[in-house]
Amino acid sequence: MSLADDLPWLAPAWQRLIAYTANDRLPQALLVTGKPGLGKMRLALAFAQRLLCRSPSDEACGICASCLLFQAQTHPDLQRVEPIEAGKPIIVDQIRGLIEKLALAPQYGGKRVVIIAPAQSMNISAANSLLKTLEEPDAHTLMLLLSDDPHSLPATILSRCQRLNIVPPTRDLALAWLSRKGVAQADALLTLAQGAPLRALALAGEDAIERRSGFFSAWQAVGAKRQDPLSVADRWQPSSTKTPPVSCESLTEWMLSWTQDLIRLRAASAQADLDNPDLRPGLQALSEKLDLKAIYAFLDRLLAARQMLTGQVNRPLLLEELLILWSRLQRH
Ligand SMILES: [Zn+2]
Repeated sequence: MSLADDLPWLAPAWQRLIAYTANDRLPQALLVTGKPGLGKMRLALAFAQRLLCRSPSDEACGICASCLLFQAQTHPDLQRVEPIEAGKPIIVDQIRGLIEKLALAPQYGGKRVVIIAPAQSMNISAANSLLKTLEEPDAHTLMLLLSDDPHSLPATILSRCQRLNIVPPTRDLALAWLSRKGVAQADALLTLAQGAPLRALALAGEDAIERRSGFFSAWQAVGAKRQDPLSVADRWQPSSTKTPPVSCESLTEWMLSWTQDLIRLRAASAQADLDNPDLRPGLQALSEKLDLKAIYAFLDRLLAARQMLTGQVNRPLLLEELLILWSRLQRH
């Protein structure tokens, strides 16, 4: 099944990529942006395979020697640079290793593709090192940088990349797609995934709806000083187990999303459109007990926490701090 048939919302982006090749105007570096769960990596890989394919049409042929190497994940002219462990930064040694490989000609004499993902996880020295490569164009090589948070990339990198933004599908299209995949509770999951179908599909396998409402109840109880923030933090992010029931990243994203809704309710009106319409009564009650200024301060802290979570941080301790701060927010 072709990429655009399988993930139909990627069709416009795919058409734009194909237009680059048809006009032989492939940029040197392309920054693919869009929220998590839209298929940025699927798009990048499909396009890389199409560029390396010996007899491509609109898509890669899937049967030539190059495609076979690609499918076996052993194509020497595809270089992927990703954090060595999830959540860790991409470090300068990885970029140096890449640059060494790029100094040689492509092994199959055609194009070469580099995929760096997530691009914002490059630390400063890695980004600086990559910058030198971006400044010295190489006609054989296409750099694909993938990012769901391009604002945290250095301006110097941004200015050297063309942009391709992936837009989420309409709600109807996303719901139809999820229903074809046999997902129950698609509506609620899609809301939780902020409209990103692949994210919703992943959440369907994680009991995310039940877990989110469980954490929301705990969050309400901490906010109302009915539960101790430390015991809630320990229950949701036990420091003793290797695999916590819900990642600290997800818990932080949920709190961010609820806090943004609190601001909407407090600053706009009770009728404001919410990211979490199913939690409206609980959010409404919370918003009435809070100062707008205090909610903004908490939002700042959550945004800083999200940033910290892209690097090395003590996750149980971070959750404790956030919940303690949250427990002190309410006036009464
Ligand atoms: Zn092929």
